[in-house]
Amino acid sequence: MIPYGKHEVTQSDIDELVGVLKNDPLTQGKQVPLFEDEIREYVGADFAVATSSATAALHLTLLSMGVKKGDFVWTSGISFVASANCALYCGAKIDFVDINLNTINLCVDALTNKLKIAANNNKIPKVLVVVHMAGQSCDMEKISKICQYYNVEIVEDASHATGAKYKEYLVGSCKYSAATIFSFHPVKIITAGEGGVILTNRSDIFEKTQRLRTHGIIKSKEHFEDQSNGEWYYEQIDLGFNYRMSDIHATLVRSQLKRLDKYLNAREKIAKKYEKYINWKIYDKTLRQNHNISANHLFVIRTNPKIGKSNSKIFSELRMAGIGVQKHYIPIYKHPFFKKLSNVTLDLTNCENYYNNCISIPIYPTLSEQKQLYVIETLNNL
Ligand SMILES: *Cc1c(COP(=O)(O)O)cnc(C)c1O
Repeated sequence: MIPYGKHEVTQSDIDELVGVLKNDPLTQGKQVPLFEDEIREYVGADFAVATSSATAALHLTLLSMGVKKGDFVWTSGISFVASANCALYCGAKIDFVDINLNTINLCVDALTNKLKIAANNNKIPKVLVVVHMAGQSCDMEKISKICQYYNVEIVEDASHATGAKYKEYLVGSCKYSAATIFSFHPVKIITAGEGGVILTNRSDIFEKTQRLRTHGIIKSKEHFEDQSNGEWYYEQIDLGFNYRMSDIHATLVRSQLKRLDKYLNAREKIAKKYEKYINWKIYDKTLRQNHNISANHLFVIRTNPKIGKSNSKIFSELRMAGIGVQKHYIPIYKHPFFKKLSNVTLDLTNCENYYNNCISIPIYPTLSEQKQLYVIETLNNL
């Protein structure tokens, strides 16, 4: 089966890992701060906090922004469940915004309308978690304008979009947001095995997430609340977690970061080939906006009900042909857990339409030309 996504571990990754395993601390050593400096410099943000996963990063970020019981958080109806769960961890209520069917990102008009209604009911969300679906940035300029008007803060769930660009800004530079999160799960653009990172230009978010990542403990004298008892002394001043990235994970992702541009180019080449050769009279293409450079994490096609063959039939025929297609994602609000929550919108027109018709086809840097052709031919001859 050709998977829809796949990581690559090279001999140089292995050599780096062996070097650290033999010589360095396995956690709380220098690899994590080195990685944080490298990723922060790559995207052009002031601060980076590496974490055990993107889910942990989202949780810490919302906590650091003061999200709590009684608050509302909104995200896109089409995303991985983690984009919504982070709000619930903080005790807040979650709700969903419809997507734009062309870009499969959050729809600015739907957001505007929903905010108007929420303003009348005194239910304006504290934070909007935008999701850069499939690796393409949302329309951040428009979204930030409307969010500023209603005093809503923005967090970018850029789990798909490491290395992507919006206009002249790299995703992660936080030009239009309080913070941006990347994921380093093996299916994403580069991997740590498991891992994530928070990027921000705000020192308050940086300091708080850094502290909450390691139990809420501080070690520097100048911030102690009480008198130090001696050289061993430290204080817990918040209820935090162990959400640290280990030095083993940081070593792998540091080594992978060196190949990020190469991976982005390889993914772009495959996307271009699919866009050129797939028969777009049968399928619908996701629109890539000119002001965006996508990281091409996923390549999503939509089947057309007018063609006379159902989406599930096409899906199973592709699986039968050895193509490991997937659907990204089941709308979050359709999961049994979310259906039981109060205040959740349970039917968003474009999310429903998208879910009925979407299929993710294979895209990853080591996907051979021969396999790309096989995917194209199979799709065109179904
Ligand atoms: C993968 C993913 C996450 C979670 O990432 P982890 O590192 O596995 O916690 C969150 N949001 C989106 C959109 C994702 O695709």
